[in-house]
Amino acid sequence: MKHARQTNNPRKLIVHLKPKQKLQPVNPNHWSEKSKRSVTFSIPPSHYEDIHYQCVRCGKISVFTAADQKLAFELHKAYIWQRRKLCQACWREKHRIEQRIHACQTRWRANTRELQHSVAFLKQWLKLLETYSDYGGRKNHAGITMLRRLVDASTKDEEADSQSNQNNQHP
Ligand SMILES: [Zn+2]
Repeated sequence: MKHARQTNNPRKLIVHLKPKQKLQPVNPNHWSEKSKRSVTFSIPPSHYEDIHYQCVRCGKISVFTAADQKLAFELHKAYIWQRRKLCQACWREKHRIEQRIHACQTRWRANTRELQHSVAFLKQWLKLLETYSDYGGRKNHAGITMLRRLVDASTKDEEADSQSNQNNQHP
């Protein structure tokens, strides 16, 4: 038993010993131009502090760390009042949905004539657009309306087809 403890993965130790830095110095000169026009610029805080927030999608409590804020506002030039709404996992999922929506749009532009009758494709795209707003994405009302209409029309076509096939088979 003792021996087993000695061979424990040293990685775990590193995680425990890693100092948790909660504060990061603010350098407002590195902010974006838009951030510099905000009132905060005239009386900037001396440090970033960890911000705890609840994910709007799954409800999990997450942390926008001081270090992440410094990166976001000073390196990536995000607006100084921009806050996080999603936890890491949901943020990644939102990004994945965005990429899949983009792929649908590309396919649609290349092959509209055929795809407008593909119920499977239309339903998949519609599902993505509907799910996207659950992750705090802007709801694409026009796209959703168009796809619902096309799904309805294609479903009716399919029903009519199978009806006439049945009639052909059993006259
Ligand atoms: Zn979440």
